[in-house]
Amino acid sequence: MAAELSHLRLPQQSAGRRYGAPWVLMYHSVADEEDDPYLLTVSPQRFAAQMRWLASRGWRGVSMRDLLAAQAAGQPGRLVGLTFDDGYADFARHVVPVLRGYGFTATAYVVADRLGGDNGWDVKGPRKQLLTVEQVRELAGSDWEIGSHGLSHRALPGVPAHVLHAEVRDSRRALEELVGGPVTGFCYPYGAVDEPATRAVAAAGYDYAVAIGHSVLAGRFALPRCYVGDRDGAWRLRAKRGRHGLRDVVTELRRAGKGIER
Ligand SMILES: [Zn+2]
Repeated sequence: MAAELSHLRLPQQSAGRRYGAPWVLMYHSVADEEDDPYLLTVSPQRFAAQMRWLASRGWRGVSMRDLLAAQAAGQPGRLVGLTFDDGYADFARHVVPVLRGYGFTATAYVVADRLGGDNGWDVKGPRKQLLTVEQVRELAGSDWEIGSHGLSHRALPGVPAHVLHAEVRDSRRALEELVGGPVTGFCYPYGAVDEPATRAVAAAGYDYAVAIGHSVLAGRFALPRCYVGDRDGAWRLRAKRGRHGLRDVVTELRRAGKGIER
């Protein structure tokens, strides 16, 4: 089926160019953790092996900012977006040193009102420390992209308009003040996104937003990402890469079927 689909000519988007979702990996925490009810944690050993696999296959891990800039310049190359949700303190300890070793970059999406606190929103625990204000400032200063994951890690679909705008717009303002520069990326808490949320993100001046699944909303303000967990060794990563390419085509066909252009 993959071979058949890949030979179809896809309809043109209104911009005159096909929307092709880049390959983006979604991580949360990188740590040694026995208790992981939400499957958010990858061990440092596994993470190092995953980065080694990417590098050995010619992939270069980059922040979303760099990935989208390369794509806009018509030079997407063999780049894969590396994203880390929630802004866990282990990003500085276990992620940054490994990525530096390969010359990779990444994006950390932090919860603006929770810096220096913990992930109290994950009711089953375990509690994990979040990056502090000072750490976020330091990371941004050494070229790691800091994006917004909202003010309080609240799911956005269905919330009143004033809450939606506060979560999206106020978190951007707060983070821009903190890092002393533009914050252009937004990440939907829980990956939960609807059309009002995408509009609020665009209106708040972000350049892009990341979601999780492929949906008819997929596009600049709901970029799909690929979950990577602690069980993902080389062959599972390869399979995920293959599925991403196929899903991109299926999303395109579904969008064309519904006559949605963006
Ligand atoms: Zn989150």
